[in-house]
Amino acid sequence: MHERLVIIGSGQAGVTLAREIRKLDKQREIVLLTADDGHFYSKPNLSNAFALNKTPSQLVVTPVDKLREQLGIDIRPHVEAHHLDAQAHVIDTSAGPLDYGQLVLAVGARPIRLPLAGKAADEILSVNTLDDYALFRTRLAGKRSVALIGGGLVGCEFANDLRSAGLEVQLFDIENQLLTGLLPTEAAAFLRRRLEATGVACHLGCRIIGIEHEEGGYRLHDALGRSYHAGLVLSAVGLRPNLTLASAAGLQTGRGILTDRLLQTSNPDIYALGDCAEIAGLVLPYILPIMHGARALAQTLCGKETPVSFPAMPVAIKLPSCPGVVCPPPGGAGQWQESLDGEGVRALFETADATPSGFALLGAATREQRELAGRMPARL
Ligand SMILES: Cc1cc2nc3c(=O)[nH]c(=O)nc-3n(C[C@H](O)[C@H](O)[C@H](O)COP(=O)(O)OP(=O)(O)OC[C@H]3O[C@@H](n4cnc5c(N)ncnc54)[C@H](O)[C@@H]3O)c2cc1C
Repeated sequence: MHERLVIIGSGQAGVTLAREIRKLDKQREIVLLTADDGHFYSKPNLSNAFALNKTPSQLVVTPVDKLREQLGIDIRPHVEAHHLDAQAHVIDTSAGPLDYGQLVLAVGARPIRLPLAGKAADEILSVNTLDDYALFRTRLAGKRSVALIGGGLVGCEFANDLRSAGLEVQLFDIENQLLTGLLPTEAAAFLRRRLEATGVACHLGCRIIGIEHEEGGYRLHDALGRSYHAGLVLSAVGLRPNLTLASAAGLQTGRGILTDRLLQTSNPDIYALGDCAEIAGLVLPYILPIMHGARALAQTLCGKETPVSFPAMPVAIKLPSCPGVVCPPPGGAGQWQESLDGEGVRALFETADATPSGFALLGAATREQRELAGRMPARL
């Protein structure tokens, strides 16, 4: 069998892995296939770019030609992998068959589409790629208002950003608080107050069930019979790991493509990394787990088997109106201890035996991040 390593996907996972391998091995043949244009950008910037009036090309960090040159790898943009023959080690792509010795799936996740009624339901946008951002900017031209469905991290960041750009923003969430699952109640209420102080209208405990066209945009209908106007509708209700290739190839999947701590799937020559992967039972769709995973996987692919370890990995809350950081507890029994003042919130999650295992810091309390992160248990 030959040594060619094929990586599918040029997001944070695919590109970081290629970089890490090149630090260890300058020679190995690496082919990186990607359905998009291969320009490298930082996805977290998508939810902070509109108010800064950033064009999609201004968000590109490394153009594909430069990336090829930097990494010395064969990057093939606009090439989609349609099917994997894991037995024969061949990928059927839009540019013809390609064989591999080892393969890494770094195919990301896809926005969840809500099953909404109404003729306009198909026109709801999501922003998970640079192309999505470009389309969103185009469609927003001339509009004065946006409805955002989903009050998670990404939804709140877009709400703040679009409001800062002068748009009227309504934010809808089926839950009674923002950032459910990440923030405890006092912290979530603090964040809501800060967001509302910018002029964002939060409709919580509100289930949107249908969307119709109307003059100047759309009419959204909720489950209680109320309705709302918006020039454009953006959905941020979460992402689902992209399992298409893996499932069709017979790899084991759960919420993501199942891997062990070596990032190895149920096929010994196929690995998975990033938003598409479920690593030892964990789906962690954030940048830091990708960085740790890429470093470990690069070692493994270069001949030194290295199981990934995840320390506590806090995630930044990039709201200019309420900056913060959250390190969600890994689960299990325990409770949040929250203390707040006008400047911020400090919330610490303690297990039944009073061991701290998660935290959330908002506003001025964010300065305690480093100290608290050092006290958190490792994730893996
Ligand atoms: C708006 C937003 C803000 C965020 N903010 C933060 C943050 O502040 N902090 C944080 O830690 N995380 C944040 N995240 C999450 C983080 O950005 C993601 O975890 C990370 O970028 C995922 O990288 P990835 O490479 O796994 O997937 P992706 O970037 O989605 O890359 C997938 C790649 O696979 C390719 N592909 C898919 N299928 C095929 C196929 N069949 N053939 C060929 N190519 C294929 C795609 O073209 C793409 O190149 C944010 C996410 C979003 C959407």
